[in-house]
Parts: sequence; structure tokens; C-alpha cells
Amino acid sequence: MATRITESDTASLQTSSPEGAPALDAREQIIVRDPATGAELARVPVRTAEEVGRAVARARAAQKSWSALSFRERGRIVFAARALVLAEMDELAQLISRESGKPAAEAISMEIVPTLDLMQFFARRTARLLKPERIPIGLYELMGRTSYVEYRPLGVVGIISPWNFPWAIPLGEVVMALMAGNAVVLKPSELTPLVALKIGDMFERAGLPAGLLEIVTGAGATGAALVESGVDKIMFTGSVATGKRVAEAAARRLVPVVLELGGKDPMLVFEDADIEAAAHAAVWGAFANSGQACASVERCYIDERVAPAFTTRVVELTRALKQDIGAREGADLGAMSSARQLSIVEEHVREAVEHGARVLTGGGRADIEGVTQDETLFHQPTVLADVNHTMRVMREETFGPVLPLMTFKTEEEAVRLANDSEFGLTASVWTRDIGRGRRVASRVEAGTVMVNEVLYTHGIAQTPWGGVKESGLGRTHGRLGLLEMVAPHHVHTNRLARLPDVWWFGYTPQAAALFRSLARRFATGSALQTTLVMPQILRRVLGGKKK
Ligand code: NDP
Repeated sequence: MATRITESDTASLQTSSPEGAPALDAREQIIVRDPATGAELARVPVRTAEEVGRAVARARAAQKSWSALSFRERGRIVFAARALVLAEMDELAQLISRESGKPAAEAISMEIVPTLDLMQFFARRTARLLKPERIPIGLYELMGRTSYVEYRPLGVVGIISPWNFPWAIPLGEVVMALMAGNAVVLKPSELTPLVALKIGDMFERAGLPAGLLEIVTGAGATGAALVESGVDKIMFTGSVATGKRVAEAAARRLVPVVLELGGKDPMLVFEDADIEAAAHAAVWGAFANSGQACASVERCYIDERVAPAFTTRVVELTRALKQDIGAREGADLGAMSSARQLSIVEEHVREAVEHGARVLTGGGRADIEGVTQDETLFHQPTVLADVNHTMRVMREETFGPVLPLMTFKTEEEAVRLANDSEFGLTASVWTRDIGRGRRVASRVEAGTVMVNEVLYTHGIAQTPWGGVKESGLGRTHGRLGLLEMVAPHHVHTNRLARLPDVWWFGYTPQAAALFRSLARRFATGSALQTTLVMPQILRRVLGGKKK
């Protein structure tokens, strides 16, 4: 949670600087608060466009020598940062929990564990993943040509990240960008700047040369300034509305963008599914991080034959969840991260109930022992039945602890309901028949479809992450994500340069006849057909040479 204040507001207030934060020389500041208690955690500066420009210039200057290092040398720094993360894991989990509201245990399982794995993976494997590749060029090889692609760093990558996974989302992209030889300027959400500053602090202590990872704290305007700052790519994660604004601004400058946007992810439970496993998965998939995950289970469709058993179990498991301040041991759900997000959740539940939805459990704010702030940011995990696709809770991203349940009769209907959305980030299919699971998966419009799994594949460093439809453009993570951090550089060589090319000037009638033969035979890709043109080719090439 955060409040912005201007210089005049701060005149009588003492400023504080979290570990690793730059000096507070900006006009505006952000007061960072614990969303569970409202307690002030620290203040950070709102960086101006000029400051963003200077950060990008420092990054650009530092990138030259960084890109000259070997992958092994870059990997050494990433491993050193990883060792610090591991050594300071509990302190870090507390910071993530205090700034975002999520349980500290979940900060470890969903943010720290996956990034430790990602760090070792890209530190070890980037060299192999970005090895220059020979490109088979078919019959051109018979003419003594070869092609390969090498992957060059882009320069400076701008990363704009959201508040819901304030550690894992930016850190994964920082590691991939650095390993690929880039410098990074990171603009974290104004709700969670302290965790981002911690990323900078850890890399600094790990020995990353100055300038290679600049953190520019601030709100939307600071992010907009980063898009305009002359960076070579923007990796944006956030809402669809902001993503479109970023894409428009980037397009004006021809800056490439990756957009990791929202989701309305469906879970399909077929009649042959393991109902106990599916119920646990639905509850975790919908309520982890209080449902504030782009890949949360936002809609659950159940075959009507197993819906009663599944629903009963989901409600039982939901009622057993412990909601508490995230930093306290044993909490399953913490506070939501902001009052704004909480009000969206409340509005979706209210509107659904008004149109006939039934609240099976939850439905409102939760009272938490020891929380005295005026307005609690805790929302009960809520299960809804009797929902339909006219309701906002089934169409728009709720991004909160709400699990709406709906039934279907046939596989066809299940797929139709899953695809009836403007989003396409992830989806999940539950069945004991893996063949059926994959068949359905191939028909669901989403960047990732999991069979008998939910939510977690952002945590796999090796697999691509990204959406279709309004869920975004491009990929992050895996080799496809790494390729977003580099410019492919094609090198083509002709080993028979002493011979002229048949398509060069001298468009004589014989040449035109040869071009027609090339169209009919060479362009088939068949070596046999091409041999039939060889006499014409040789006449032209050797004749040309004689001239
Ligand atoms: P926002 O779109 O509000 O913000 C995302 C980032 O963009 C923040 O750092 C924000 O700064 C910044 N920003 C705001 N305005 C601008 C602007 N005009 N130009 C450039 N940057 C700007 O998203 P949230 O932070 O609310 O994140 C929640 C959303 O993110 C959800 O829709 C969720 O689905 C999506 N998301 C997608 C993921 C994916 O992988 N597909 C993963 C996680 C979340 P500030 O916060 O300071 O305003």
C-alpha cells in the first residue's frame, strides 16, 4: 500500500531511506505502508523524467563493458546474488510480506524458491540457449552459401513491474536481461518499491558493476518516462489498460515491447477428474496471494455430474483456510495489497449477488485480530455459485479471493465457456484421461494450458510465459523469453564469391528464361528439379565470368 506526498506535505515529516534506497532528492515521495496494518514502512522518491533519463544514460554507459564479458563471468555475479538471497531468505520474505500483504511462507514458496531456481538456470544455461545457430538454407547451400544467427544484447532493457509478485516478476526479467548482456532500468509499482530496491541492493553487494541495474521508483508517470527514455525494449507486466498505453507510446518510438497482462483463467473439471485433488487445486489456485495473481483460477467450470461433490469439498477447504497478517506464521491468506483492488473485488461480488449469484462461503471483509486500521484490507476467501457470463465476476479480471463455480454438460460446452473471454493467459483442465486433457488443452485459447495443474508454471524457469488475446504479447521465461532480450543477428557467407550470382544484372532474354526455370524448378525446393536447371545456370554463371 502506498501514499504519494509532495514536498510541501513533507516539510514537517522526517524522511527515511530503506536499505539500498537512493537519497531522497526528488520533489515527491511515496510513503510505503504495510497493507495489513497500515503502518508506514519507509519513504522513497518519485523519480522524475530527468532522473529516469540519467539512469538510462548510466545504464547505457555500463552496458558496453558488461556485454564484453563472457556468459560465465556474468553468471558468477548472478550466482553471488543468489547466495545472498538464500542467506537472507527469511528477512526477505518478511519484507515481501510486509510490503504486499501476502503470507511470508508464500513469499518463500511462490517468489523466492522459483527465482533461486531461475537464477541458477539462466546463470548456467544462457550460453547454451544463446549459442549461435546455423540455419539450414536448402538449395542455396549448393551454391556455397551458409547462414547463421548470433544473438546480440539489445542494450538497455526497461522493466515495468506490478505489485502482486514484487520480487519474482522483476527479478526473473532482470536476470535474463543481464545474462543476455544488457543493462536494466527497473520501474517497480509504487505499491512495492522496497522489494525492488532490495533486488538492486543484492546485486550491488554481489558485485554487479554500477549502472547495470538502475531502480527508478515512482508512480505511473515514472513508468511513462521510462517508455520515452530511449531504452531498447520495454518488458511490461500489468493491467491491459496500462499495457495498451505503454504499447502506444512505445510504438511512436518503435521500441519493442513485451506485454504480460491480465487474465480470467478458467479451470475445467471433467467428470473423470480426481475430485479431491481438483478441489484442493481450485482453492489454492483461486486464493493464493489472495487471488492477486494473473494466472489465478478466476472461473471454475465443473461437469454437472460431479459438481455437488466438488462444490462441497471446495467450500469445506475454503472454510478451513486461516486468514491473518501475512508476516505471522500459519497464515494461508493475508491482506489484499491495496484498497483499490479490494473495492474491485467487492464490486464484482456485489454485482454478481444482485444478479442472482449465491455466496457459499465468505462474501465480505474479514476481521483480523490486532488489525486496528480504519478499513481492513482483508477480504474473505469467497465461493460463488449460480453465476453466469453476464456477470462481471465471470468476464472481467477480479484479481481477488473469489472463486465462481459454474456447471457444464458436455466437453464442447466446457471449451466454449473457457474461450468465451477476451483474455487468454492460462487455463487448467482436470481429467484422469491425459489424452483427453491434451485434446481439450489444444482447443483452449491461452498461452499456457495445464492438465491437472493450476497457476504455478510462471515458477518454471524453462517454460515460456505469456498470453494470447488481451492477455498480452511476447513471452518471458524459457528460451522464448530469453530471445526477447536479444537482437538476432544473421550472418550470411558466400564461399564462391568469384562466381557472379545468376540474378545479377544483365537481364538478357536468356537470363529471363533462366529466371522462369528457377521459378518452376529451383523454387520447388527439390534438388532433382534444380539439377534440370543446372545447364542454364552454368551457362549464365560461366558466361558472366568470362565477361
Ligand atoms: P498496472 O497496469 O496498474 O501497473 C503496472 C506497472 O505499470 C506499475 O509499475 C505501474 O506503476 C506502471 N504504470 C502505470 N501507468 C503507467 C504508464 N502510463 N506508463 C508506464 N507505466 C505505468 O498493473 P498493476 O500493478 O495493478 O498489476 C496488476 C495487473 O498486472 C493485473 O491485471 C494482472 O493480471 C497483471 N499481471 C500480469 C502478469 C502476467 O504475467 N501476465 C503477472 C502479474 C500481474 P504504479 O503501480 O506505480 O502506478
